[in-house]
Amino acid sequence: MTKSLMKSDCITDLTSTQIRELVLALGEPNYRATQLQRWIYQGLAVTWDEMTNLPKQFRQRLAQETNLHGITTAHEVIGRDGTVKALFALADGKTIESALMSYSAGAGKPRHTVCLSTQVGCAMGCAFCATGQQGFERNLTPGEIVDQVLYFARLVQERCREAPSGPGLPAGRITNLVFMGMGEPLANYDALWQAIEMLNSPQGFGLGARNMVISTVGLVPQIERLSRERLQVGLAVSLHAAENALRNELVPINRKYPLEQLIPCCREYLERTGRRPSFEYILFEGINDSVHHAQLLARLLVGLNCHVNLIPANRSGDASFRPPPRGTVLAFQGELKRRHIACTLRQRRGLDIDAGCGQLRSHSMMQGHTETPSQNARRAPVREGPR
Ligand code: SAH
Ligand code: SF4
Repeated sequence: MTKSLMKSDCITDLTSTQIRELVLALGEPNYRATQLQRWIYQGLAVTWDEMTNLPKQFRQRLAQETNLHGITTAHEVIGRDGTVKALFALADGKTIESALMSYSAGAGKPRHTVCLSTQVGCAMGCAFCATGQQGFERNLTPGEIVDQVLYFARLVQERCREAPSGPGLPAGRITNLVFMGMGEPLANYDALWQAIEMLNSPQGFGLGARNMVISTVGLVPQIERLSRERLQVGLAVSLHAAENALRNELVPINRKYPLEQLIPCCREYLERTGRRPSFEYILFEGINDSVHHAQLLARLLVGLNCHVNLIPANRSGDASFRPPPRGTVLAFQGELKRRHIACTLRQRRGLDIDAGCGQLRSHSMMQGHTETPSQNARRAPVREGPR
């Protein structure tokens, strides 16, 4: 067995350099590394056997040395709007969830966006968040992050093959990645960044960094680090409140990195990168949804070239966090617009399948993986392994 690799590792946990080292250690020439990576990230191979331009003996050695996939599908549901939510089992039996949202070709370009998890659970403990309430279990490895993308890339490819000219069906490739699933991406920085480099690399998945967005609860030192990175990945900051007292309650990490640190840090990010950050603001009825709250938000962000995403809350286990009535949401948005804050109301997707962060997993943990999490959702067949 090679030094850099243990049997329990997955090939997607390796960087390009490590794959090359593995190939050389197995006595194969350099170019095999390129072929191998092409099979994994472009060919979306499901088995070693289908890598037919690699010698059979080499494939057998690879199978002995490493695994091709680090995650398997435990449960998959498809919402009425086509959103696919998958619950994945990791090698140690822990579970994570991710979602695929497809936006058909209408006014804009067709998009297939994957919402990715970066941790099992989350240590940040946000009051309204199903994942936060589950607590933190562990960080995901780079391979476990990348494998979520490869899974949905196969799904999109399959869908397109089945209905190449279906109404409004976008092209068969993942176009966008958002790190907005379970966990705090910037609390798992190194693994996140390795995954992003592989997903971006032309030898890897080859997706432009500008098509990726990292959502963070607001870890100031890590945002500073992000602003110095070479790749032009987007930043979304989960704000949810524009005054410390309220934000402390909703997002406890605000006690460590309060708004007077976070907002200047976002200004610096903009200055250094030239990319405008976006701010996520979940609207909770009776908590942060009044016109007064909108005014506070506008005042906080004045002069900062940014974009606000308003998100009516998903109903979570805690009944105190409810979405406001439509009129309240529109009044909030109207006030921001009146004060020249660029904002959009996020389209709600996958609500019938518990597509809020950590919600499928919470249900699944309560009910066992075999239960259908929502009556409205169409249950997809459970798959034995990766697609
Ligand atoms: N930890 C990071 C990354 C993803 S968190 C962050 O907080 O930004 C998961 C996403 O789900 C966040 O955008 C969060 O705001 C959203 N979310 C969690 N609970 C929600 C709820 N009850 N309603 C609507 N969105 C929710
Ligand atoms: Fe963690 Fe984000 Fe949920 Fe907060 S909202 S608990 S940071 S996953």
